[in-house]
Amino acid sequence: MSVIENKETNLSSVLKQFVEAPPENTPQELIDHFATALKNNTDLVSPDLFYEVVEQSSIAISITDLKAHILYVNPSFTKVTGYQLEEIIGRNESVLSDKVTPAIVYKTLWGRLMQNKPWSGVLVNRKKDGTRYLAELTIVPVVNKEGVCVNYLGLHRDVTDVNRLQNEIQNHESLLRSVLDSVPVYICLLDKDKKVILSNDAYKGLGEELGGIDPAIRFMEIMGMDFSTTMTSKTGLEKCEVSFDSGKELTRWFTCTGSWFKEQDTSADNFFEARKEEYLLFVISEITEQKQREEQMRMSAMRALLAEENLVQASRETLSGAIYQLQGPLNMVAAATSMLERRSKKKENDSLLDVLKEALAAGEEAVETLRSCMPEQKVKELTTVNINQLIREVLSISTNRLLSTGIVVEWKPTPILPSIHGSDISLRQLFRNIIENAIDAMDESDISTRELRINTRQTANDVIEVSFEDTGPGIPEHLLIKVFEPFFSTRGHKGNRTGMGLAMAQQIVAEHGGTILAENIAEGGCRIIVRFRI
Ligand code: FAD
Repeated sequence: MSVIENKETNLSSVLKQFVEAPPENTPQELIDHFATALKNNTDLVSPDLFYEVVEQSSIAISITDLKAHILYVNPSFTKVTGYQLEEIIGRNESVLSDKVTPAIVYKTLWGRLMQNKPWSGVLVNRKKDGTRYLAELTIVPVVNKEGVCVNYLGLHRDVTDVNRLQNEIQNHESLLRSVLDSVPVYICLLDKDKKVILSNDAYKGLGEELGGIDPAIRFMEIMGMDFSTTMTSKTGLEKCEVSFDSGKELTRWFTCTGSWFKEQDTSADNFFEARKEEYLLFVISEITEQKQREEQMRMSAMRALLAEENLVQASRETLSGAIYQLQGPLNMVAAATSMLERRSKKKENDSLLDVLKEALAAGEEAVETLRSCMPEQKVKELTTVNINQLIREVLSISTNRLLSTGIVVEWKPTPILPSIHGSDISLRQLFRNIIENAIDAMDESDISTRELRINTRQTANDVIEVSFEDTGPGIPEHLLIKVFEPFFSTRGHKGNRTGMGLAMAQQIVAEHGGTILAENIAEGGCRIIVRFRI
């Protein structure tokens, strides 16, 4: 008897090949055994051996005629179904059917068998005692030498428990997934190769919002944490704050918590030698709203502070201007006084000299009085400063002026910008001076396109560069250096303009070890570039 294919033809050609070229180290008695079987055209193993194998198989085996009437079942079949050989022989396999299996399944099953093709699937069966069980069944057509199907061979096993366990695992998984998807945080589990093993829908959504980048890896990068180093040192994260600036929307803020743990590796490679693998559980919560509330409070406080600073600044500039204006004539009076003193050495009473001396003394006293009236500047504390954040604050403070002057702002911060060490008060003042200058320049010209383009970037040589471009009238080429001189203004000293804005800007930049330069843009307008060392 042969199964599906013509066993003899296949087997004899395989044996021939084997005997002619046996693999290296094949025992001689095996080669002799095959050679004898080939020569005598006998079976390799006896029919008795075949029978014993079938009898002792742990799989439920049945052999039927072409109408599925049972001709033989092995002991395992009896064990699974409860039917003894003598009570089931001659009956149709349908005796096992629970009748809940959809008709289409049987149709497909018989459709395959009719084409002499094997069929595999799962059916709901009923044991002799009426108990239902799931049978994982394979039916193989048995064909004779002429290729005609003469019998069917059925092989099945009870997979009720396996199926129940699979269902339980699936239920647990879907329960876990529902829980993960319903919590208002972004969760993911990463393996040692940074591969996401598990994540919730929110996490996947966040990844898409970040442009397809894995949020956990991206945030670790922003925080300056190296994945492999944290794994080796088992360094976790405890509510670390991180901000993300896409440039398209408001800055988003998150807190990240991460912890490493070990779990049994279930792959086949480690079946005998249990090995534990490292996993990182990363939980991200969005705190943008909370940060925005804090930010609003901070901005209100800062507006008040800035107004006070401006007042101090304006007073200092006005008084400095007055002292500067006074100093010139005073110097001339001092020069005239000393000249007269040299000439009138012999004369006892020189009334002009006395008047000049009096005027000089009065002038110096006035200068001293003005100096003493100069309000003290606040002591500037040095902190870690995020330039992007400072510019955003200044823009927010200038919003009303920008709107009322019809200026469109194009703000392009680089998403990841290292902080610098400096005074946030001074730097805020610096950016405010530059932005206010740009607004003034555009407001006073009759140019219809009013744009302020600001961008930040980190240049290759560890320098942060901030560029401010306006579409105003620009600065005459010969004055590009002069604009940084104290009390110099291309627009005269009208209103509260003292010509100290860029001079102060240069001083602040110099205090931070940076550089500032002004240049004209070919298409029109002015560009101020500020560079800081990181
Ligand atoms: P049936 O009237 O037997 O058949 C339903 C449909 O199947 C029919 O409409 C027809 O399209 C097709 N069909 C049935 N018999 C033939 C046939 N001889 N030739 C062509 N088409 C046919 N069923 C189980 O439920 N559990 C088992 O464990 C199981 N083991 C099997 C093992 C073997 C080796 C074989 C050959 C069949 C086995 N079957 C088994 C299928 C079984 O024989 C029945 O077809 C099935 O149980 C449906 O029974 P039924 O009385 O509901 O419908």
